[in-house]
Amino acid sequence: VARATSRNTWQLHNEQIRRQTQRRLEIECGLRGALDRDEFSLVYQPQVSLDGWQPPGIEALIRWHWPAGPCHPAEFIPIAEDSGEIMRLGEWVISEACRQAVAWHAAGLEFGRIAVNVSGVQLRDRGFADRVVALCQRAGWPPSRLELELTESALILDSENLRQCFQVFERHGIQLAVDDFGTGFSNLHYLNRFPVKRLKIDRGFVADMLRDTNASEVTQAIIHLGHALGMRVVAEGVETHEEQAQLAAWGCDEVQGYVHTRPLPPREMAQWLRMAQERHARAGAATAGRL
Ligand code: C2E
Ligand code: MG
Ligand code: MG
Ligand code: MG
Repeated sequence: VARATSRNTWQLHNEQIRRQTQRRLEIECGLRGALDRDEFSLVYQPQVSLDGWQPPGIEALIRWHWPAGPCHPAEFIPIAEDSGEIMRLGEWVISEACRQAVAWHAAGLEFGRIAVNVSGVQLRDRGFADRVVALCQRAGWPPSRLELELTESALILDSENLRQCFQVFERHGIQLAVDDFGTGFSNLHYLNRFPVKRLKIDRGFVADMLRDTNASEVTQAIIHLGHALGMRVVAEGVETHEEQAQLAAWGCDEVQGYVHTRPLPPREMAQWLRMAQERHARAGAATAGRL
């Protein structure tokens, strides 16, 4: 019986690996040429300041409309990184986000910056920084209003190329944020060496902070650390008003999450921006009326 059971387990395990490999291959094939077939779009989510009104920042997130079925960025981005497809894809994201930002700006919509996610693989490529600048210029968007979200793992790779990249970013005022902060490496040396402007607290901590002491302590520690280093701190994955109120009490600077809105397609994002602007104008008028 034992032998039969272990054989079954082994077969099950084998079957699982076979399926995973199959899925990976399908995604890798699907990604090839997907850009030319126009299968990607961007959705947008605002980053709202807690310390008085400031036009929100906006993060662009990629979506893949794969004819074969749903596939989230968490699944296909790592595969695109391995296959090298991320290079073209990443540049498309930057130029599309900049193009959209220019269009919103022209329509009179107020926001501070547009943020895009960048993989470590892209950062390691020679000439990446110069191409980012060129993509901004081609779209007519000031590089100083572009923010790149990098993960800790992308930043600890201490290479000459990385340093050159950061010099170019700094020269053009391109802003840097550390995404998913707190989940990566405990070596924080890179925070001093690179011109990081924002820390984004990973949403795992935010999700647990109201009921778990450790998550609460880590969240507060990140806020203090960021402020001590002269950075702004953004909490991601904020879903409730209770969470937002606690973060505000702890001095967190900005929040992003379902509490404000899910990531939205361009048209709905424009509506959201317009409503936020009107709400702010009404609040300003009310204050002025009282004075
Ligand atoms: P991220 O950059 O940390 O983005 C935040 C993720 O949390 C997004 O998932 C967003 O939809 C989700 N989110 C936002 N608010 C909430 C909330 O209140 N609750 C919960 N539970 N989730 C929330 P998404 O869009 O599936 O993206 C997942 C990850 O894929 C991103 O994490 C980023 O690392 C990567 N990614 C997305 N777009 C790109 C891209 O254009 N390039 C690269 N290299 N990576 C990307
Ligand atoms: Mg991000
Ligand atoms: Mg994140
Ligand atoms: Mg992430």
